[in-house]
Amino acid sequence: MAGQSRIGVTGLAVMGANLARNIASRGVAVAVHNRTGSKTTEFMSEFGGEGDFTGTQSLQEFVDALETPRRIIVMVKAGKPVDSVIDELTPLLDKGDIIIDAGNSHFPDTVRRTAECEANGIRFMGVGVSGGEEGALLGPSIMPGGDPEAYAEVKDIFESIAAVVDGTPCVVHVGPGGAGHYVKMVHNGIEYADMQLIVEAYDLLTQVAGLDAHAIGTIFEEWNTGDLESFLIEITGKVLAKVDEKTGGPLVDVIVDQAGQKGTGTWTAIDALGLGIPLTGITEAVFARGLSALRAERAAAAKTLAGPTPAKKADESLVDDIRQALYASKVVAYAQGFAQMRAASVQNGWDLHLGEMATIWRGGCIIRAQFLNRIRDAYAEHPDLDNLLMVPYFTEAVANAQDAWRRVVVTATEQGVAIPAFSSSLSYYDGYRRERGPANLIQGLRDFFGAHTYQRVDEEGAFHTRWAQDG
Ligand code: NAP
Repeated sequence: MAGQSRIGVTGLAVMGANLARNIASRGVAVAVHNRTGSKTTEFMSEFGGEGDFTGTQSLQEFVDALETPRRIIVMVKAGKPVDSVIDELTPLLDKGDIIIDAGNSHFPDTVRRTAECEANGIRFMGVGVSGGEEGALLGPSIMPGGDPEAYAEVKDIFESIAAVVDGTPCVVHVGPGGAGHYVKMVHNGIEYADMQLIVEAYDLLTQVAGLDAHAIGTIFEEWNTGDLESFLIEITGKVLAKVDEKTGGPLVDVIVDQAGQKGTGTWTAIDALGLGIPLTGITEAVFARGLSALRAERAAAAKTLAGPTPAKKADESLVDDIRQALYASKVVAYAQGFAQMRAASVQNGWDLHLGEMATIWRGGCIIRAQFLNRIRDAYAEHPDLDNLLMVPYFTEAVANAQDAWRRVVVTATEQGVAIPAFSSSLSYYDGYRRERGPANLIQGLRDFFGAHTYQRVDEEGAFHTRWAQDG
């Protein structure tokens, strides 16, 4: 039996409910379902009047409410729940129906699920959706991956619900298989790096420049009018300005300094290690969250381990140096993330168009920023670019910022303030611009203890030396 709804959404927590409402607001008939039926009832009583919704209490009823080929968005908790939903849906579906996993699934799971669904004649898409609750409702950035023919069946709906920047919807078919979830993973990794750079700037402004949260909030507001203009910089200003009703002081001052994480940053870092791509900004951001979680250990170490006490002294010139260090480190984090996507695209045969990724991240998503226009332009001009740092705009931007960047790293190090993302980005930059680095010695050591051989600069071939005897 085929129904009338053009698309279905199962999983009515924040993301699914808001996505369903967004779709219905475009005049599309939507069937909705949730494992716990009372949530569907609640959804229908609260939002049912907003559009052409069909509330359903069982998966059979849900499937029956959809026109064929069925288009089903699964927006449930990532991991095993996605497999459960696919298992339960599969016997109820017909060949050619489409399951769209729009949650934060790990891309190898998407590759596996695509093959499993294909074996049952079902088309599967792994779709990254960014923008949180508000984005899902008002216009997210959407990163669809999977069968292009399946995408053609939902393209108009996705284009109608996505955020729009300069007349361009923030959605594009990213590539086959796990490509969509891969790109969403790197997006989240970059989000980790962006946030870590922001908190390092906040820490320096607090510990070294001695400013309070409100003063720093004003600085972020100002930064949001320049090169750094972005959603995360904007909301940093707002978070720092928020007053705690209980204490009357800045709310941020009474929040426990322990960052949570759901795993996408770790996936990004692990994937980069597998690809052999240096990804210092994102990986240090993941490590920093790990360090933040060691709250009890840090409390003990604070009393035991030696180090300088930061000055907490007003320093006007430091504020602008920090802005420049933040910008240069951000360029490095994006250069690394894009290099990672390029390597993954080659390895998996995805043919990712990196300029398109920058284009669809300009709106709707958490890392939306002015800066992405520059990245889009860079790939428009040089589609096969190895590294964003090599594009004149970014080469120059980092060259202009580097003196300030170095001063900030020196000051933070002297005053004992941890800046893992600022300093590792600078080290990456200095390492990347070296024609001849120090790895010759690593090769000598490897050959010494493991006869791994080495290459010479003046002759072709693999060489081995009997180091102990010959030295
Ligand atoms: P969530 O808290 O991750 O998941 C809750 C939903 O999953 C509920 O509808 C729940 O149904 C359902 N569920 C859990 N286990 C299930 C199972 N075994 N079988 C069927 N349904 C099951 O919800 P969310 O925050 O809206 O996120 C949904 C997805 O979007 C996740 O993958 C998340 O990572 C991703 N995402 C979230 C955000 C965000 O800002 N929250 C942003 C981007 C992407 P019941 O009501 O029956 O428990």
